[in-house]
Amino acid sequence: MDNQQITVTSPLLPDLDELNVMLKEIWDSKWVTNNGKFHRQLEKELAEYLKVPYISLFTNGTLPLITALQALRITGEVITTPYSFVATTHSLWWNGIKPVFVDIDPSNCGLDPNKIEAAITPKTTAIMPVHCYGKPCDIKGIQEVADKYGLKVIYDAAHAFGVDVDGESILRAGDMSTLSFHATKVYNTLEGGALVTHNEQTKKRIDYLKNFGFAGETEVVAPGINSKVDEVRAAYGILNLRQVDKAIEARHQVAIRYREALRNVEGITFFDDMEGVRHNYSYFPIFIDAEKFGMTRDELYLKLKENNILGRRYFYPLISEFSTYRGLPSSAKENLPNATKIANEVICLPMHHELSEEDVERIINVIKT
Ligand SMILES: *Cc1c(COP(=O)(O)O)cnc(C)c1O
Repeated sequence: MDNQQITVTSPLLPDLDELNVMLKEIWDSKWVTNNGKFHRQLEKELAEYLKVPYISLFTNGTLPLITALQALRITGEVITTPYSFVATTHSLWWNGIKPVFVDIDPSNCGLDPNKIEAAITPKTTAIMPVHCYGKPCDIKGIQEVADKYGLKVIYDAAHAFGVDVDGESILRAGDMSTLSFHATKVYNTLEGGALVTHNEQTKKRIDYLKNFGFAGETEVVAPGINSKVDEVRAAYGILNLRQVDKAIEARHQVAIRYREALRNVEGITFFDDMEGVRHNYSYFPIFIDAEKFGMTRDELYLKLKENNILGRRYFYPLISEFSTYRGLPSSAKENLPNATKIANEVICLPMHHELSEEDVERIINVIKT
């Protein structure tokens, strides 16, 4: 049997010949970075594709989180989820903000709005939820708490590229949303990211902040950072945007196959599509009930690995379990029962645009036998 390695993801790559044409143009112009032609074009095209009024490109998906907190002058304590990639919490740390972990809702793996209120103190200034796996958080519930206490909401939407709820982009929720265009994500510019804002003034401020705070040739209005995107990655991004819908549809087909095959397997659960939501199929997490399935999550993870199939335990361990954060009072396991349970049950199966029917069959066979 063909035992080629199946990786959890595979980068969506633009056509090399098409990229070369654009590279030639960059080389000829000698304008290689600093808000060049392709940079401006990609921002415009992304705003249209994502149905958002304002977007600023960043050099990765972590700096927009850090910069959003700076732009909104967030201080003190911020309520966030332990069930995410470490960058979410790190962005608070880099701003001298104390993270306060609140448990997740198992139905979407996002922050549970009913548990936020109890974690609010006089020092709380904002909430930083994550649309985990691109599944929409309870946006309404979170906004209600935020409004009641006058808190800002910054969404880490790194997984939520192109996700709509009732025809409206999920990126319009809260005060700001951030994206990651890392090679492992649904849409990538090798490394990259973006910050979505809701008005022109805020975008302007973000654009100053990502360019050292420069507001003009000789004027610096804030202690900014350098998070500019060069023309090469902007060109790459323009080409990838043209094929991202096709990639999302290919992922959708993989999700359909997984669901058909795993629907009646005892001890395995997964998410179905939500009504009114355009999903991006960025990940395919399954949750293992060891008793019913007859094997623990880690045993299945290793069995897949022995068969040259690389799943990933996203997100295990919880951010609150890493040495940097485990001393925080909110990191206590008793405070995070749902997140703790799910972190011990989850495996993300391989999910990308190039997975063949045979690949999916092979994965399912290993799980089922
Ligand atoms: C990928 C990711 C990030 C960070 O993005 P980078 O582009 O790798 O810096 C932040 N948050 C979440 C939830 C992510 O998955």
